[in-house]
Amino acid sequence: MANIKVFALGGLGENGKNMYIVEVEKSIFILDAGIKYPDIDMYGVDAVIPDMSYLVENKDRVEGIFISHGHEDHINALPYLLKLIPTRIYGTHFTISLIENLLSDNKMNIKDFKLFRINENKMLKFGEVSVSFFNTTHSIPESIGIAIHTKDGAIVYCTDFNFTPNSHEKYQTSFDKITDLSKQKVLAVLSESIGSGAINRIKNDSILNHTYKNILLNTDNRIIVSAYSSDLRRIQQIISLSLEMNRKIAIIGKKSEKIVNIAIDNHYLTIPSEKLVYLDSIVDDYDKNTEKDLVIISIGIRNEPYRRILKMASGNDKFIKLNAKDTVVMMCPPVPGTEKYAIKSLNELYRYDINIEVFDKKILSSSHANKDDLKLLYSMLKPKYIIPIKGEYRHMYEQSLVAKDAGFKDENIILLQNGEIVNFVDGKMVKDGHIHVGDIFVDGSLLGNVNEEIINDRETLAEEGVIILLINFDSRLRKVISVPSCITKGFSTKQCELDVKIEELATKIVNNNLVKKRFSSNEVSNVVEEEISKLVLRLTKHRPVIMCTLIDISK
Ligand SMILES: [Zn+2]
Repeated sequence: MANIKVFALGGLGENGKNMYIVEVEKSIFILDAGIKYPDIDMYGVDAVIPDMSYLVENKDRVEGIFISHGHEDHINALPYLLKLIPTRIYGTHFTISLIENLLSDNKMNIKDFKLFRINENKMLKFGEVSVSFFNTTHSIPESIGIAIHTKDGAIVYCTDFNFTPNSHEKYQTSFDKITDLSKQKVLAVLSESIGSGAINRIKNDSILNHTYKNILLNTDNRIIVSAYSSDLRRIQQIISLSLEMNRKIAIIGKKSEKIVNIAIDNHYLTIPSEKLVYLDSIVDDYDKNTEKDLVIISIGIRNEPYRRILKMASGNDKFIKLNAKDTVVMMCPPVPGTEKYAIKSLNELYRYDINIEVFDKKILSSSHANKDDLKLLYSMLKPKYIIPIKGEYRHMYEQSLVAKDAGFKDENIILLQNGEIVNFVDGKMVKDGHIHVGDIFVDGSLLGNVNEEIINDRETLAEEGVIILLINFDSRLRKVISVPSCITKGFSTKQCELDVKIEELATKIVNNNLVKKRFSSNEVSNVVEEEISKLVLRLTKHRPVIMCTLIDISK
């Protein structure tokens, strides 16, 4: 009989920073280590990662990190985690190739880390516990589910999957391996929730194929397809259909090109070399960038696909300048957090004289599990408990309804929050306390140097602007000696002669303080900032950041 704990350091009640922990007796197994992209108003924050102090405190018990697939929300926290705990990492060939690339990008030497390439035929042993894998279908090749086998049954981690049939072997689900798991008893399944509310989801890629084929048939000119770099399966579809119509392919997208290059090098993406075109960075009317038979696939992450197309449309891209003959296919439906930017960009894009085709969710099938996929998973695994993971609370709740609909009782469905521990003692579930969790903000290469206060300052600077006041005074003459200089950024003082009023008030405050017995520049500048802030708020309803510096010219 075993003592098993399951909890999350990230991924529950949110989109991203997936990191789940399974503890069997003293051994810790880490499932994925992802980032979350910051909200739009978290100025200067590049990514959010889970607080991993629990793992640091217990690092001697960590057996390894097991990675399901190579998307950022599942692997991009690894450079930070590995700096804290240089433990073993297990993943499929393609996933480990992406992790190697990620570590190199973070100036880490791959040779310093223990990276193991596994496949679904591997069974790893850690004392009494063993870990096995099964292939799943997702938008990136070689995605896997992970099973941690204990004396009381297996804990199965199945995130980012669906059961859509796929002809490419690197995207195929191993149904036999999944059903085999149920023969050995499954104690609990941790299954993704993100698509559990989706109804009438498109089941296959036939609409995409049909729509894109029509575009190919109806234009003799250049096509530019804008896509997410993580969406390798769809990129392959676009490539294959384009090749069928005798088109040449070019792929552009700064950093993101790497993922495609890794995929091409490892034969996960197939483009015959004679069909792959490398574009020139100097564009004139007659060079190959404007050839009619080209399909240019522009890739990126988050907002990049939109930003790049806008650059091309406005004539500011060094590779492509769009013209009226071009057809642009936007194959990048917004992801959580990018909706506003996407709508704004499309509105702007329609102003240009180009043909735009938007492939939205009505055309694109989802690569996440919907209700039917989840029910099929439950029926194959026959778990005793269901723990919805990955998604906002509404998604997780939605999965609990799916589980109920599939016949599971309330007491066998466990809705958790990050940090909340569920304990299985001799196969029975009890909720058992909480560990410390939180968000760590990553700013450039700095880890955790950004706190909420700094973000608030950046937010104010961005939304309200800044007023900088320089005041020269003479401590011997005990007075301000010239009109203060008032510099503003992102904020206008022209309104109601605000600058004059600021200068007058600042001069008055400093003069009044100079005649007092004791004078502290710091204290007086604080008073000036406070009083000016009140004045500006009263007259303009704005709260800019105000910075006042007092300079004693007698020293
Ligand atoms: Zn994914």
